[in-house]
Amino acid sequence: MSNSYSLMIHGGAGALEDLKHEASEAVFQESITAILERGRQRLERGDSALDVVEYCASLLEDDRLYNAGKGSVLNADGKVEMDAALMDGRDLRAGAVAGLKGIKNPISLARRVLEHGEHVLLMGDGALEFAKFCQIDTYPDDYFITEARIKQLAEVQVTGGMTLDHERVKPSQKLGTIGAVARDIHGNLAAATSTGGLVNKRWGRVGDTPIVGAGVFADNDTCAVSATGYGEQFLRTVFAKTISDFVQFRGMDAQAAAQAGIDYLVAKVNGEGGAIVIDAAGRCAAAQSTSGLIRGWIELGGETHCKLG
Ligand code: ASP
Repeated sequence: MSNSYSLMIHGGAGALEDLKHEASEAVFQESITAILERGRQRLERGDSALDVVEYCASLLEDDRLYNAGKGSVLNADGKVEMDAALMDGRDLRAGAVAGLKGIKNPISLARRVLEHGEHVLLMGDGALEFAKFCQIDTYPDDYFITEARIKQLAEVQVTGGMTLDHERVKPSQKLGTIGAVARDIHGNLAAATSTGGLVNKRWGRVGDTPIVGAGVFADNDTCAVSATGYGEQFLRTVFAKTISDFVQFRGMDAQAAAQAGIDYLVAKVNGEGGAIVIDAAGRCAAAQSTSGLIRGWIELGGETHCKLG
C-alpha cells in the first residue's frame, strides 16, 4: 500500500459552458488550486484525511464563489438554509447538519457532531442549540447572502421551479456546491460535502448532502465519495454508497465506479449531477451527467490539476 496522499475537491456540477469563455474560469481555477495547495501542505505533514477534508471544505465555504457557507443559494423565502456532512473511512463515523442557519462553517459543526459521537445528524434549531453548546458563534444573514444570490432567486422565481446553482443563471452567477475527498499518508479515507442546496427550494427541504450514503460516503475498504447535483435523485439512488458498492462488490477502481454510479443515476432516475471519488489505492476520479463539474485534484502526491468541464 502506497504511503502517498491524494486529495480532490469540487465546486459543484451544472451547465458551465459559458464559464469557459469568461474571466471567471480563471477565478475558479485560482481558488481551486490555492485550496488544494493548502490541503497538500497538511497531508504532507501527516494530518488525517478527516482533518484535511474538513479544512478544505471550510475554505470552500468561506469563498463566496461557491454555494456553501458564505454565498449559499437562497430558498423560496429568500433565506439561506445549509446542509453539510463528513465521514471517516477508518470506522464509518459520520457527522451531519441540515437546515442550518447562521453558522459560518457548517462542515465544522458536522465535525463536532461526529466527534461528540452520540448522533449522526442534527437539524434546524437542534443543530443551532448544539452549536451553542460547542461555543460556535452564529453570524447575521448578511454574512451569507450576496447580491448575486438575490438576483439569482428572482430570476428563478419568474419561471418557477427549482434549479441547481449552475443552471439557468447568467454565466457570472454560475457558482456551486462543494466537496472534498482525501486519502492520507496512513492510507485512511474521508469525505465531506457542504451546500446551500437548490435555488428556490421549499423551506425545510433537506437534500442529499447531509445524508450518509447519498451525498457523502467514505470507507477505507472501498473509496471516499462527495456528490453534487439534484439531491432528490441522489437520495432515491443512495448514490454515494452505490459507488462504494461498485468498488466493494464488483472490484472496480475509482474511475470505473464513479462512471458506473453516474450510469446508474441516469438509467434509474435520469439524474443530473456528478461525483468525485478517491479509492483505497489513492486514485482520483470524477464522473458527471451534467456538462460541467468544477474540480481539482492531487493524485498520489503529484501535480495539482484543475478542470471545469
Ligand atoms: N446536492 C445539492 C442538493 O440537492 C445541490 C448541489 O449539489 O448543487 O441540495
